[in-house]
Amino acid sequence: PYDVLVVGGGPAGAAAAVYAARKGIRTAMVGDRIGGQVLDTDAIENLISVPHTTGPRLAAALGAHVAEYGVDTIERQRAEELIPAGPDGLTAVRFTGGQLRARSVILATGARWRHLGVPGEDEYRTRGVTYCPHCDGPLFAGKDVAVVGGGNSGIEAAIDLAGVARHVTVVEFLDDLKADAVLLEALGKLPNASVIASARTTRVIGDGAHVTGLEYEDRTTGRTGSLDVEGIFVQIGLLPNTEWLGDAVKLTRRGEIVVDARKATSVPGVYAAGDCTTQPYKQIIISMGAGAMASLAAFDHLIRSAGA
Ligand code: FAD
Repeated sequence: PYDVLVVGGGPAGAAAAVYAARKGIRTAMVGDRIGGQVLDTDAIENLISVPHTTGPRLAAALGAHVAEYGVDTIERQRAEELIPAGPDGLTAVRFTGGQLRARSVILATGARWRHLGVPGEDEYRTRGVTYCPHCDGPLFAGKDVAVVGGGNSGIEAAIDLAGVARHVTVVEFLDDLKADAVLLEALGKLPNASVIASARTTRVIGDGAHVTGLEYEDRTTGRTGSLDVEGIFVQIGLLPNTEWLGDAVKLTRRGEIVVDARKATSVPGVYAAGDCTTQPYKQIIISMGAGAMASLAAFDHLIRSAGA
């Protein structure tokens, strides 16, 4: 068995694997795609000390850093079940290709943005369609943008973007915005933000190279409307990749793994880090820090448990 089994090979998983391996303990990192969401990213400009990189370059660097240590890295394996430890103290994870057991497990399976599922969305992803205001907001300085989704994350994004963009329009499907009152009040005070409610986004419009607009259907009249925008921020939910866990560890209603300050889950010996957890603000640098923390906590668990 392994001392530490890391499930997931994104920024959180890679950081956890490096920190564990540097303690000289038997470590494995098993994930579907090494690099995780980073692979879907174009430019990355907020990983401190790396002013500019690309997703593929960072994903390769994560893999290379892990490879410098004796980590057993296995790609293209999906975790399907977590089996909590019995009297032998070993937690098991069943993957598509077989089962692995370890004295501690770090869950780092990340998350995925919910998509609109409308024509043009995939075609213009990273060419105007984006899911992350913290990542891509500065690209739209002085431009007109739309935020799709009027929940807390959508209104936070709109307030944030109003500081850099020329104008922000929030497009909400429902008849009113569901965000907290304090956020709606802040939005209402902004001279360059407006809201279109009862609007079903139907299409991303582009000129072949970049986004030029957004088309929507007014749900009360059935009429088609459009907005001239260069950026569309989709804020309709972030889905944690935790379905496979069932009720093996405590999850929130939204499926996030509940972790404490040391990244411990509800199950002894099982830790979690990154976008799949309740940790707020889903970012690369935050996931890396969380992975390091989970790994140090797992090591602490190992040296305190019998037979260490
Ligand atoms: P992930 O990166 O999601 O990695 C999860 C890992 O788990 C992957 O290896 C995946 O294959 C694996 N996995 C998932 N399910 C299973 C399973 N069942 N079994 C086995 N393995 C599994 N953040 C920034 O800081 N700056 C940016 O500029 C930026 N731009 C972004 C642009 C885009 C388009 C997107 C989608 C995200 C962006 N982010 C950015 C957010 C950032 O990518 C995430 O916060 C970060 O990757 C989270 O790291 P993670 O390791 O927690 O999860």
